[in-house]
Amino acid sequence: MAVTDHVDLNGFMEGVKKRNPHQPEFVQAVQEVAEDIFDFMQDKEEYHSQQILRRIAEPDRVVSFRVCWEDDAGNIRVQRGWRVQNNNAIGPYKGGIRFHPSVTESVLKFLAFEQTFKNALTGLPMGGGKGGSNFNPKGKSVREIMRFCQSFMTELYRHIGADIDVPAGDIGVGGREIGFMFGQYKRITNNFTGVLTGKGLEWGGSLIRTEATGYGAVYFLANMLATKGETLEGKTAVISGSGNVATHAAEKIVQLGGKVLTLSDSGGFIHDPDGITQEKIDWVKTHKTHRRGRIEEYVAAFPRATFHAGKTPWGVPCDVALPCATQNELLGEDAKTLVANGCRAVSEGANMPTDLDGVHTFKAAKILYAPGKASNAGGVAVSGLEMSQNSERRSWKEEELQQMLKDIMSGIHNSCIRYGDQGGGYIDYVKGANIAGFKKVADAMLAFGVV
Ligand code: GLU
Repeated sequence: MAVTDHVDLNGFMEGVKKRNPHQPEFVQAVQEVAEDIFDFMQDKEEYHSQQILRRIAEPDRVVSFRVCWEDDAGNIRVQRGWRVQNNNAIGPYKGGIRFHPSVTESVLKFLAFEQTFKNALTGLPMGGGKGGSNFNPKGKSVREIMRFCQSFMTELYRHIGADIDVPAGDIGVGGREIGFMFGQYKRITNNFTGVLTGKGLEWGGSLIRTEATGYGAVYFLANMLATKGETLEGKTAVISGSGNVATHAAEKIVQLGGKVLTLSDSGGFIHDPDGITQEKIDWVKTHKTHRRGRIEEYVAAFPRATFHAGKTPWGVPCDVALPCATQNELLGEDAKTLVANGCRAVSEGANMPTDLDGVHTFKAAKILYAPGKASNAGGVAVSGLEMSQNSERRSWKEEELQQMLKDIMSGIHNSCIRYGDQGGGYIDYVKGANIAGFKKVADAMLAFGVV
């Protein structure tokens, strides 16, 4: 007789909570997946008896380390760094590095868990991982950031490799930080390999990697609208965030004929009733990335816009919404407001921006709602293409990559329909993404036996 007992969803979640105390983000991410997977597994004895979900929800390993660095005033600073290697059943661990004061082991475990499903959905051979530090890049000089990145890599290098674990950027980590980290990796190991993605074009990076997450989220949105015979032409869009994902999502919305009304940062949101045009998006990119400014200053440059301090943009009526800032930025009440105001589609550019209440609200309203693990997969997908180009020691052309990104996003959309079509014209994209991602990883794990 099998000794494994078939716990139900509640029993399973009780165990997850007990084993991961004080890790609410991780528990939330597992719960969102488990809600769908338990249903799917009902008649699949092997997944139960082999404890597949339990195994995916236990990272292969969590590496935690001290990162010491010296600030410009000569003070010794101590930060905590992590790499969470969640699952490598279908390929080397792959996922970004986040530098933000909100980073904890819980946040990185949730991100690595999500990444496992997201990467599987891309169809590329990548496992799931995530790393980062509670280092706050805000207000730091370029030299301080360089010293921090070097110190971070001085520990991280021994845990990563082109066929082992391939980190990339995330919040607080862009091309500049990837450069500092790659430089240090190369210096320590004397090895020029595709160990990081999001690299500069001169040293092994891929075209369109920067644009890919935001563009991909809009391609996914367009795919969802197409199931209703609609396009983005003439639609109003509310976007949160003003970083790489948000500005490129805005750019693609504008290119496809939509009107972007908002952008935000941690200080509040700006509402531009005239629409945020390409020229204004370019201003935001320069302002946020190069001048490291605040979104608040947008209203001085474009006076017809208003700034709403300390608020999120979800109360602004819109046809479509794209949360592109961070986790749990769109709560149950916000979801209700969006639905009440007639929002028809939500495509997540950030990772887990909608809390569980919000997810349930969107599902109950049966609107077109794409979870980040499906809609924001474009970034890591182009990272996967960067890995291929590095292995082949070649670079693909921009048109080729644009087409591959579009195809990958359509492929993910098809997978969601395959497992999420509820009949009556309603597609549960959360369920579709969870099941499609899970199945691929689970079947690979079954092949390996108990490891
Ligand atoms: N940080 C991005 C994500 O959340 C990209 C990861 C990567 O390119 O490896 O998917």
